[in-house]
Amino acid sequence: MISKKLAKAINDQINAEMWSAYLYLSMSQDIYVKGFRGISHWFKVQFLEEQAHAAILINYMHSQDERVILAPIAKVQTEWKTVLDAFKDQLEHEKKVTAMINNLCDIADKDGDRASNNFLAWFIDEQVEEEEEALRLVRHAEMIGDHIGGMIMLDKELGAREYHTPSPLK
Ligand code: MG
Repeated sequence: MISKKLAKAINDQINAEMWSAYLYLSMSQDIYVKGFRGISHWFKVQFLEEQAHAAILINYMHSQDERVILAPIAKVQTEWKTVLDAFKDQLEHEKKVTAMINNLCDIADKDGDRASNNFLAWFIDEQVEEEEEALRLVRHAEMIGDHIGGMIMLDKELGAREYHTPSPLK
């Protein structure tokens, strides 16, 4: 079983993942209005993934006989000046999430809780991917700049993204 301290921190993480989902859904709406349906779709898939992250954490809480207390989801930004600005905010946000996951691991380490560390390893790997992908999108959008042809190509590429259920939920 997990410590009360870790249970509280995981409960907070569930809220953070739901906030991430809300943030990416908001980016998806704004980018849709800007005319980039493919990039909007990409963020909608990101929204689904973040909800899945919350579900994975909820399942773990249940396995540890811990009750999940759902807190309100804080307000998110609703408009970005450019698509690049949204990508930059995504990268900064994912860095914060990585720090939060690292904090969960620190608590599990102090508790000598090997099961939780094993469980959290999936999130550590996931954050490497999240940061790598967010950085790639920032770099691409920076290179494209105001070149509409480039943006249309990126829109097409990101529009092909498919949602895959994360392995811990399979
Ligand atoms: Mg996440």
